[in-house]
Amino acid sequence: MAAALGLALGLGALLAPPNPAEASAPGSPVAVSRVEAGRTVVAAASPSLSRPKLTGSIRVGSRLRANVTTTGRKSDFLHYEWLRDGKPINGAAETVNYNVKKADLKHRISVRVTATFVGGVTLVSTSAKTEKIRPRLIDDPTSGQVVVNKRRPLKPKTFVPLALTMPRGIANNGQPVRPSVARAIEKMHKAARADGVGLRMISGYRSYALQRQTFNAYVARDGVRAAETYSARPGYSEHQTGLTVDLGGYEGCDFDFCFASTKTGKWLKKNAYKYGFIMRYPNGSQKITGYIWEPYHFRYVGTKVAKNMKKKKIQTLEQYRGLKAAPNYG
Ligand SMILES: [Zn+2]
Repeated sequence: MAAALGLALGLGALLAPPNPAEASAPGSPVAVSRVEAGRTVVAAASPSLSRPKLTGSIRVGSRLRANVTTTGRKSDFLHYEWLRDGKPINGAAETVNYNVKKADLKHRISVRVTATFVGGVTLVSTSAKTEKIRPRLIDDPTSGQVVVNKRRPLKPKTFVPLALTMPRGIANNGQPVRPSVARAIEKMHKAARADGVGLRMISGYRSYALQRQTFNAYVARDGVRAAETYSARPGYSEHQTGLTVDLGGYEGCDFDFCFASTKTGKWLKKNAYKYGFIMRYPNGSQKITGYIWEPYHFRYVGTKVAKNMKKKKIQTLEQYRGLKAAPNYG
């Protein structure tokens, strides 16, 4: 017990940062010490190297940048060494930027910077580790930008959104959506009503289990080949993200092609993008999306993306994100 305690204390002392209060105590002649980004910078005249700070997004495919400041004249360039869980990453040295790779997923990245100053002084400083690296937005089911199709199942397939809620003021079938989607639906519903158009939510979030049940029911009714043109296998449904709704009006045609020619269907085709929704399975895009035309199935992507797609005249998320077509499960 005593030995263990001694060891713990010893380690603690070894790891403890220098106490800045000691150097800059009131009345002390050494008044130039200050604490900067977690390290003590002593005497303004001597060379210093700040602790590197990382900026950028901690997602696969994003770029991290190391930011340091030095004082004093350097005799050499700054040297960077990028670390994964504290160990040097092969081939990731000498550059101020680091492109986050797939291999970094769920690991933590940091950078070690070495500065050599005139007079031979060398200072080394290592940044804090990032949080665990996250997947690309389009691969991350928690992201509002995730792309799900027959070649891109949810990961994990049993994914459940963190928060789900019912939009207020609109007729619905009891299936919730993510809060951001609920707010957007409420706005869109209000705008439609102002134009004299009725809007109903006829489906929203479906869990893995419910999707399995739904898909199996369609297979039993129409056979697997037909069912797969309009219904997803569990784990492959956009409805499981909580970002997708099926919409209806008050002229019939629920879940039907003829919805496109109803007042509501026409209004949505023209206006949904203003509220961040896209018709996810447009007419004639089955070879890309894997699904027949569904004029009632709308995916929330946010107003920025929806407006951008409209501006660029791009109809499918696959094309917008430069992804391969997903006509089938492959
Ligand atoms: Zn749908």
